[in-house]
Amino acid sequence: MNILFLEMKTTWLEIVAFLTSSFAWATSHGHHPIDNSAVAIQSSVVGLHKSLVERPFVTGSESNVARFLQTYLEDIGLTVELQPVEENRHNVLAYLGDARETRVLVTSHIDTVPPFFPYERNGEEIWGRGSADAKGSVAAQITAIQLLHQGGRLQEGDVALLFVVGEEKGGTGMKIVNDLGLSWEAVIFGEPTELKLARGHKGGLGFNLTAIGKAGHSGYPELGRNAIDILVQGLAKLQGIELPGSEEFGATTLNVGTIGGGVAANVIAQDAFATISVRLAVNNPLRVKELIEQAVREASPWLEVEFSTYAIGPVRIDHDIKGSDSYTFFYLFELTKRNLGFETIVVNYGTDIPSLKGKHKRYLYGPGSILVAHSDHECLRVSDLVEAVSGYQILVTEALGRSKVIPNTLRKQSFE
Ligand SMILES: [Zn+2]
Repeated sequence: MNILFLEMKTTWLEIVAFLTSSFAWATSHGHHPIDNSAVAIQSSVVGLHKSLVERPFVTGSESNVARFLQTYLEDIGLTVELQPVEENRHNVLAYLGDARETRVLVTSHIDTVPPFFPYERNGEEIWGRGSADAKGSVAAQITAIQLLHQGGRLQEGDVALLFVVGEEKGGTGMKIVNDLGLSWEAVIFGEPTELKLARGHKGGLGFNLTAIGKAGHSGYPELGRNAIDILVQGLAKLQGIELPGSEEFGATTLNVGTIGGGVAANVIAQDAFATISVRLAVNNPLRVKELIEQAVREASPWLEVEFSTYAIGPVRIDHDIKGSDSYTFFYLFELTKRNLGFETIVVNYGTDIPSLKGKHKRYLYGPGSILVAHSDHECLRVSDLVEAVSGYQILVTEALGRSKVIPNTLRKQSFE
């Protein structure tokens, strides 16, 4: 009886020890490795994406995502460096072994525009701030590198991952990356491009329009000068001007993003202002500035224009990676053969591409549509997220000149 009891006790203790060590292993090796099946790959990338979207990373408060990514990337076997940008704001650089100088860089941004709204899964759609712009890219890029790494397809010195802060506000994070003293043959940027390779994107410039009024009692308008009226005249004039466009990039467009002014309904407004951004389709920011200044002068002498220091023409992007139509995708419970020669697209938004100096080739690719990014209904399809994992694997292997290597997710046995 006693012996039996001891035996049972030992067995029970062993089970507890086994479970504890299994749990410890699962915790310390949290995300590594991904079982080489379509189901496991989808579950891994969707899980990582959820962790990223659940954390609010509005520009200026990205510190918790940097720390999260540091742990995650170390767990999958990468060396991680945090590059300070400002107090409590860090870029995250990850690479294999000791080789921080790599041939290819895969990068995206971890900040989002405000306001934050939470993660929600609606069947095939994932909703939440940053779900498309750009945490879909971040999750797919990490999973792609993880799969290539664990499949033995990457060596030290091949590729690094870089996730920057501040992309949505002037590219503060990426500009500081130039201080790392690194260079690459090719850089793959992640932004929502609907899984197409971007051929280029528009440039941009910003300006403030300020109206100078004179305060007074609203009952005696002849004694004052209403800044809001003047601002409205200026904005109406700006909406009417024709800015030069181009065949490749389309129209140059202008958006009045914010307005403000006045103190009360019964006071003649002394101040009024608007902030405006222009998406440039021509390589001549100076000409566009002149046209804006001229329109404002014609509208009222009481208007002032102040341009931001940032002004850049449209950016051409490399798109010489063809992919291959011999790749076959294996989805969950579904076999789909599709042509993976990447479609190309021109996009109307700015990116970090011009902020990163160097002679590298530049590619822009990612899941999701910019049409919902920055909106209150930002979302991403699960199938797009999964396809981007394959897309990034192809881009990385082709950028390394190893196009014959078929990525894990595309191999037939991955579904068997
Ligand atoms: Zn973005």
